[in-house]
Formats: sequence, C-alpha cells, structure tokens
Amino acid sequence: MAAQAPTRRDSAGSHAVRPRVLVVEDEQALVELLRYNLEQSGYSVSVALDGEEALAAVRDEVPDLVLLDWMLPLMSGIELCRQLRRQTATANVPIILLTARGEEADRVRGLDAGADDYVAKPFSPAELVARIRAVLRRIRPALADEALSYADLYMDLVGHRLTRGGKPVHLGPTEFRLLRHFMEYPGRVFSREQLLDAVWGKDVYVEVRTVDVHIRRLRIALNGDDRPDLIRTVRATGYALDATPE
Ligand code: CA
Repeated sequence: MAAQAPTRRDSAGSHAVRPRVLVVEDEQALVELLRYNLEQSGYSVSVALDGEEALAAVRDEVPDLVLLDWMLPLMSGIELCRQLRRQTATANVPIILLTARGEEADRVRGLDAGADDYVAKPFSPAELVARIRAVLRRIRPALADEALSYADLYMDLVGHRLTRGGKPVHLGPTEFRLLRHFMEYPGRVFSREQLLDAVWGKDVYVEVRTVDVHIRRLRIALNGDDRPDLIRTVRATGYALDATPE
C-alpha cells in the first residue's frame, strides 16, 4: 500500500477541520487498527510503511502529528525522528513514538531523538488517542479542541460555523480557512506567501495578490455592520489577526 498523504485539495476541503495524523508503521494489522480508531476519533489519517515513504509524505503535506513506530524496515523510527526534527517544515511537528521496547534507556533515547511522547506496545487504542490529544493540546492547543475563539469571534470547527458577538457570520470556504489559520496563531503576522502556503497549499499556483482579494472578502464578512476591524494590515509585510486598538 502506498503512502496516502492527503492532497492539498483534501486538506483544504471539508476535512480541513480534522487534525492530520501520519502513521508510520509497517505492520498492516496495526496500521488498520490505528487508522480505524483515529478516524473514529476525528483525525484524518495517512500511512507510510517505512521511513522513505514517511519523508515523501511529509514533503507532500506536513501532518499535524506523526505516530512513529520504532521498529521499521530500512530506517529506524529513531533515525526518522531525528531527520524530521532536522527539517524546517517538520521541526516542530509533534511526534509520538510507538514501541515494544519498554526499557527506560530506550525511552530516553526516543525523547533525546526529539519525540514528544512515547507509548509502549501493547497499548489500548483509547489510551493512544488520549495521549495524542494531550500532546496536541500541549503543542497546538487549537487542534485538540473543537472550537477556536478570539475577541468576539467563535469558530465551531466541527460544525464549520462562525459567529461574531454571537451572530452568525457566513464565510466562503477560503475565507473560513484563512480566518482559521489566523485564529490558530492570533497576533502573528503572516506574509502573503506564508498565507498562500498555509491556506492554499505549497503546490498550488496562485498569485500572491489573490490573498488580498480574500482578505478583503473576509473583512467585509466579519466587519459587516461597522464592527472594529480584526485584521491588521502590516505594511510591506502581510496580515495578522489583531484586536488590539491601534
Ligand atoms: Ca514495526
């Protein structure tokens, strides 16, 4: 079975709200068990059967979390973990190591290689899902929760709905993803190129000025009846979600 990293179109579509987990494991039965349980728990799952496939999958799309088996053919989970940490795109992606090696020394080696957590086999799927949630909550709080809020904005990630001051705001799919990205990193300034990569995808050819068009639409939708503008334009740099008065 080939790696099934979701395409950008998938990630930008209706499944955008599901955190993406890349499972790197060569044991087919365990892969299926993990896939089933993670999908049931609201994650979108892609699979790589070895280190090379995993590296190709993350080049395609950076997952929100990597579940990594220690014992893999060709390249060990530990070595893959080190490589993921060395690459800029995956340096901060949470990694949970799965292993049958339960010894303390191994645990330390795993954490030294850059893993965020360590789950010993055999484990119960419920326990694993709980650990994934805990790691995501610690590292990217927005992903563990089902809603985002900022100032008077409330974004329901499950129902794909947005309200401002309790009133529904209707956004197009691109504006929704754009705002979601801002709400995951409130206050942070993003360049147009960064927004294109994060919201449209790295492999998609879109003109940078497209970002301005969607920012304008987002502002109109959000600020409807003269409400304070939550999007800050940073001259020569880009945009940020920022409710602080100028
Ligand atoms: Ca294995």
